Amino acid sequence: MKTLTASSPQALDIAALRADFPILATKIHGKPLVYLDSAASAQKPQVVIDAERRVYEELYANVHRGVHDLSMRASEAYEGVRGKVARFIGAPSAKEVVFLRGTTEAVNLVAQTWGRVNVKAGDEILITALEHHANIVPWQLLCEEKGAKLVVAPINDAGEVEIDRFANLLGERTRIVAFAHVSNALGTVLDARRMTALARERAPGAVVLVDGAQGVPHMPVDVKAIGCDFYCFSAHKMYGPSGMGALWGRKALLDAMPPWQGGGDMILSVAFEKTTYNETPFKFEAGTPNIAGTIAFGASIDYLCGLGLEAVAAAEHELLAYGTEALSSIAGLRLIGTAAHKASVLSFVLDGVHPHDAGSILDYEGVAVRTGHHCAQPVMDRFGVPATIRASLGVYNTREEIDVLVRGIRKVQEMFA
Ligand code: PMP
Repeated sequence: MKTLTASSPQALDIAALRADFPILATKIHGKPLVYLDSAASAQKPQVVIDAERRVYEELYANVHRGVHDLSMRASEAYEGVRGKVARFIGAPSAKEVVFLRGTTEAVNLVAQTWGRVNVKAGDEILITALEHHANIVPWQLLCEEKGAKLVVAPINDAGEVEIDRFANLLGERTRIVAFAHVSNALGTVLDARRMTALARERAPGAVVLVDGAQGVPHMPVDVKAIGCDFYCFSAHKMYGPSGMGALWGRKALLDAMPPWQGGGDMILSVAFEKTTYNETPFKFEAGTPNIAGTIAFGASIDYLCGLGLEAVAAAEHELLAYGTEALSSIAGLRLIGTAAHKASVLSFVLDGVHPHDAGSILDYEGVAVRTGHHCAQPVMDRFGVPATIRASLGVYNTREEIDVLVRGIRKVQEMFA
């Protein structure tokens, strides 16, 4: 699936690659779709759609249970994805990969298992001011239950975590450090490696969780290099199916964590007197899983790896630079999130225009952008805005689409002039 241009062996041929995504041919209000909402959810290439369909057509049966051929084939394909996920993020073992519904479920799992056992009254959980609600609320629930304190590392006016202030908030009481790899609202790329190293140095009793929902679709990720304890992400943001994702955790930590939900598959034996739990990672996977979704998740990993994450990062970086320059030249437009190291997100506000109005007008031009707080209300508060307009990039976006966005913004401004 790798599509290269003649001039640069590294560069992706975006025009050719777009043909992999059937939905991109859709017209919206009679105009070509300009899909700039991949941070909310990315579109799916044909190989992912086919993979899911093929499961139901050719190998569908429940996994882990049957001795019959179909069940064994389904189980093999399903379990094969665990290894793919592990290799994709540089994890040492497939046994460290827990299949879940996505990032939200993964953070909740860690909060409700590791957190419930290890966090007590007076302990601290350190997050940052740019987190998605999925990396705030599960910790608040835990703090409420345990009498622990949620501590928030501030961000500066560019939307960057102030590393010294982050470092100063780490200490003996810190039990969990949780932060995004990339901010969905601002596009800031956090220095996950450095932040993890600081946590190790200053808060030796803490575990580090990285929310990789916006990381894995846009750059190569190696959890060993980052050095964290948990890394989680969602398939739907990386061109895979929705309702699917993974939590990676260090084996020793996962082994020591209690199960979360009870039911089938997470047990070895059940008696009314005593139930014995299955081993890691199965003890966290109660019930019939998303079988077809998991196998299609594997296809999305193959697709991304076929493109090459370095090439994806380079293409998106170039387009982000183009978009940043184009939007910066518009009077009355203020970019929210101007970090030195950014990925894939152009968040902005327009003088005198509510973001929702702008979003509706842009929709009539065929441009799909997200407007609102992007599940990051504290970020909106930090920048003193109720909402932003967010154009977020996927590997299929082009300069021409940024030009359509810019023309649409000018139209919005004319209507509100
Ligand atoms: N964290 C970040 C940074 C996100 O962008 C998102 C999705 N917008 C989430 C967590 C939650 O992911 P999901 O809804 O797939 O569980």
